Amino acid sequence: MNLQTPIDDTVQVDFNSPYKLSVNGQLLDAEETFDVFNPATGSVVAKAPNASRAQVESAVAAAKAAQPAWARLSWEERGAFIAAYADALDAHKEELITLLTTEQGKPRHSMATTEVEYAIFWVREVAKRHLKDKVIEDTPDHIVTVSHTPLGVVGAITPWNFPILLGLWKIAPCLVTGNTMVMKPSPYTPLGTLRFGEIAQQVFPKGVLNIVSGGNEQGQWLTEHPDISKISFTGSTATGKKVMASSSSNLKRITLELGGNDPAILLPGTDYKPLIPTLFDAAYGNSGQWCIAIKRLYVHDSLYDDFLRDFVAYAAEKTVGNGMDPSTDLGPIQNTMQYDKLKSLFADVKAQGLSVPLGGEIDDGLAGNFVPITVVDNPPKDSRIVREEPFGPILPLIRWTDLDQVIRDANDTEFGLAASVWGPDRGEAIEVANQIEAGTVWVNEIHIHGIDIPFGGHKQSGMGVENGTEGLQEFTNTKTYMFKKSS
Ligand code: NAD
Repeated sequence: MNLQTPIDDTVQVDFNSPYKLSVNGQLLDAEETFDVFNPATGSVVAKAPNASRAQVESAVAAAKAAQPAWARLSWEERGAFIAAYADALDAHKEELITLLTTEQGKPRHSMATTEVEYAIFWVREVAKRHLKDKVIEDTPDHIVTVSHTPLGVVGAITPWNFPILLGLWKIAPCLVTGNTMVMKPSPYTPLGTLRFGEIAQQVFPKGVLNIVSGGNEQGQWLTEHPDISKISFTGSTATGKKVMASSSSNLKRITLELGGNDPAILLPGTDYKPLIPTLFDAAYGNSGQWCIAIKRLYVHDSLYDDFLRDFVAYAAEKTVGNGMDPSTDLGPIQNTMQYDKLKSLFADVKAQGLSVPLGGEIDDGLAGNFVPITVVDNPPKDSRIVREEPFGPILPLIRWTDLDQVIRDANDTEFGLAASVWGPDRGEAIEVANQIEAGTVWVNEIHIHGIDIPFGGHKQSGMGVENGTEGLQEFTNTKTYMFKKSS
């Protein structure tokens, strides 16, 4: 770990200027605030407003009041507002990247820049998307069409691992389909969201996009609220279940993007050497705090020993440190709750006497939440490191011999978010991919996303999808019109 090198401070952010709620077009303070920490230093970065119940109520009321006029605009008119928002975000891009690294930890020069640029690109592209009416039947005396109408007010709840991207992934499709929104970011990473909320107030009519920060209870107030028609939630499976239960009060529509324990399977004959950087990034990127990170890497027996040696040699060269340092490959763990979970998992790996060819020891004396890059060599299938979603820079490599068994093992999880299959014979790899229970399976590539590619989890990794036409449709009601042509 390299914690002593100078940091990139070329983009200054004034953390002393107060962060504000966005409610009905106004920027508001709250009576109470809470501390936001820099996970690389452990110091307080800024104070964020803890929205009161009355402020959350005002935000929902504002979104409700703004929604009919917003929905009456054409797709093109709403799209023009959203494209203008993309431009406004672009003008603040460098500030958002610095904010993201400072509150989330991810390296500024790589993942933070990618996240913010990708999110802005996403907003700009979604602004161009429409859901077209479909004619289902057209006979001489009868016509049936299906169209998609907005739901009303959407409550959006986001996690701390990709706060900018996952927030904007919800805003653009929600607004383009004619809904308004109240968003609540994670209490660990509220600053970027509050800031892009402020920027939004310069672009959108008042009440169209409202941001209320706070703890978990503000999220619950949204899920319980009778004037909210849908909850778009990204977070853990445990919280997703609470969101689902609470949303039943008025039969809210829900989209749940939840946890994962993604397997990757290397088939015999895979030319693995050129893949090592890709597999490393796919497992350890964002310090493993990624729902679709590779979390179990199944390597065929014929490759296993060589792969382990080469993978460990590659991983040992990577640095963990402050994300503002341009030489850092992986930043810290974002918050102490997650850091403590990892300490417990690392202790379990040790207590089980598992073979750990790289890393394995967390130095608890550091100021930041730094966890070393760790590889676990062929742990048993019932060990915690195989069963649980670690959400940290630790990966089990698992030796396999029997194809049917490795497919069963890959599927032996409550999760079903994503997976990848790697092999020289595309047909065989696709045959394996067909048997994997997951919302997305990549073959000989990984972590490709697209505006028009639906993304969502199977089993307890979620419900519904984001992105693509299907993702847009989830922000709408399906409405069928039937007309008799002649009376
Ligand atoms: P979390 O479930 O702890 O929190 C997510 C959000 O829910 C936060 O804003 C939190 O304040 C809020 N919340 C907590 N309790 C609530 C309640 N009772 N009612 C309403 N809202 C409540 O998740 P996290 O730790 O922030 O995020 C990490 C998890 O998110 C991981 O499991 C990861 O796999 C998952 N994730 C999934 C995806 C995906 O697309 N499938 C993407 C990113 C992260």
